[in-house]
Amino acid sequence: MLRRYVGYRDSNARQLVAVEISGRADVGRARLSGQVDRIERDADGGFVVIDLKTGASAPSKVDLLRHPQLGAYQVALEHGAFRDETGAEPMSAGSALVQIGGTRIKALSQPQVALSMDDEPDWAENLVRDTADGMAGDRFLAKVGSHCNTCPVRLACPAQPEGDRE
Ligand code: SF4
Repeated sequence: MLRRYVGYRDSNARQLVAVEISGRADVGRARLSGQVDRIERDADGGFVVIDLKTGASAPSKVDLLRHPQLGAYQVALEHGAFRDETGAEPMSAGSALVQIGGTRIKALSQPQVALSMDDEPDWAENLVRDTADGMAGDRFLAKVGSHCNTCPVRLACPAQPEGDRE
């Protein structure tokens, strides 16, 4: 993994801004808080949040388009979560998972385009806001997806065939 990471670092054209940096930003009712592995700056002055992944699996290209974690990074950055490193009004140039685990020979960079370049630039911010609003409510909508495979309450979930029992 270290060899793959060093290979990524040494071949990366963007400028390193910060590593393992904590940030926090309020977006509507949501507070985005956490630590990111790397922040990099591209030649146009845009910032890219990098998340190093050490597992063997990697999301598909289609999943990257609406990858919630990568989208939340971009929203947090544009809301000033890392203002000490990026300034108060930074422009997101995207975000990326960098896969250094598994048996691959080289690190695999999996980018998500900048929100401003997306067909729906507000998708990630809407997701953050809607999630916070939903968590503050007294009802929770069961949304079926791949995450159901490891859900501990699947047998009691009304959205699943096995949970739809009297
Ligand atoms: S099984 Fe039901 S409760 Fe569990 S993650 Fe899926 S939709 Fe949500």
